[in-house]
Amino acid sequence: MCEKCSGQLGRRSFLKLAGAAGIAAGIGAGLAPFSARASGATTHVTADEALARLKAGNTKFVTSPQLCEADLAATRKTSAPNQEPWAAILGCADSRVPPELLFGGLNLGEIFVARNAGNMADTATMGTLEYGALALGIPLIVVLGHERCGAVAAACDMVSKKAKFPGSIGPMAKAISPTARDLLGKPGDFVENVLRESARRTARLIARSPVIAPLVKSGKVKIVTARYGLNDGLVDFYA
Ligand SMILES: [Zn+2]
Repeated sequence: MCEKCSGQLGRRSFLKLAGAAGIAAGIGAGLAPFSARASGATTHVTADEALARLKAGNTKFVTSPQLCEADLAATRKTSAPNQEPWAAILGCADSRVPPELLFGGLNLGEIFVARNAGNMADTATMGTLEYGALALGIPLIVVLGHERCGAVAAACDMVSKKAKFPGSIGPMAKAISPTARDLLGKPGDFVENVLRESARRTARLIARSPVIAPLVKSGKVKIVTARYGLNDGLVDFYA
């Protein structure tokens, strides 16, 4: 690694992280994408502290949403040189489930968010989370499903009603359909069961990432699942 790369990566050198993950040889030659990092500083927040912050933020969102006001103008200046997010959220694209708001009005630079319909970990999303954990040092990854998710409902309809969807919507929903097939006919609400189990399986998939697995094993990263209630605004962290 040249001195320029070393400076850009900062005090937590990428090679050190890559070595910790056991992937130095594989990624060492491809450092260019990480040059966007400025100071290289990362958060000191632990996974447990991050989880407590999210829970407290959601409580504020539910009980005192008028207090969820971030000073965006000031933080834009202070956060511009470097980002030090303390949690990564894989959430649904649903317009009613913006993580920054439902966790209490979080500010710029606080959480690293990947969203797609159904909160699935496709290649782009997996790479996003790997970057967050490895290069940004994020200690907590939350897979956040939500009540009455349309993508999950589409997968359930594919399984139970042989529904078909145009374009890439079908393949997108199909990624959830194995979970739907496994839970078809089980007690309880079909969509609710599937959205909870789908998030569990996605969390396990993330945990198997060759980049993230060593970080989990060493205690640097935790992965949790959660479900957001559209009606009551509550985030339920569940196992
Ligand atoms: Zn959804």
